[in-house]
Amino acid sequence: MHKIGFGYDIHRLETGHRLVLGGVDIPFSAGLTGHSDGDALAHAVIDALLGALGEGDIGSRFPDTDPHWKGARSAGLLGDVVGLLRDRGAEIVNVDSVIVAEEPKMGPHIPAMKAVLCPVLGIPATSLGIKAKTNEGLGPVGEKRAIACYALVLLRLPD
Ligand code: MG
Repeated sequence: MHKIGFGYDIHRLETGHRLVLGGVDIPFSAGLTGHSDGDALAHAVIDALLGALGEGDIGSRFPDTDPHWKGARSAGLLGDVVGLLRDRGAEIVNVDSVIVAEEPKMGPHIPAMKAVLCPVLGIPATSLGIKAKTNEGLGPVGEKRAIACYALVLLRLPD
């Protein structure tokens, strides 16, 4: 049997924070706020995986009230969720995602994101889509006050 999952996340973009997306540190004048490293792409993928399993969401699994997760590398949290998935006998067929950010330019960083995420997800680069677009200057993302990410996953599970 196959199951799909969908995830979305948005984080505020503020000066004085690191910008981490897809497990990659991106040099920029501002970064994403959050209890963890603020990696909205990893968070969207985590929610998509948990959604496909019917296992709640990132907030229920890694509560932001728990100091254990403060400053956590989200790629590590993603690895935990992939472990859960394997426990359920599921394997990832493919992941597709979109980063919506006015700046900086994400394109040059996508190969590095794939290099980090593919081994964690256990899929080849051809099974991970990461696309980047702007919000055409509209809304909080367009005004450079936030970065949003969307992710879709397909899992294969035992019948
Ligand atoms: Mg988040």
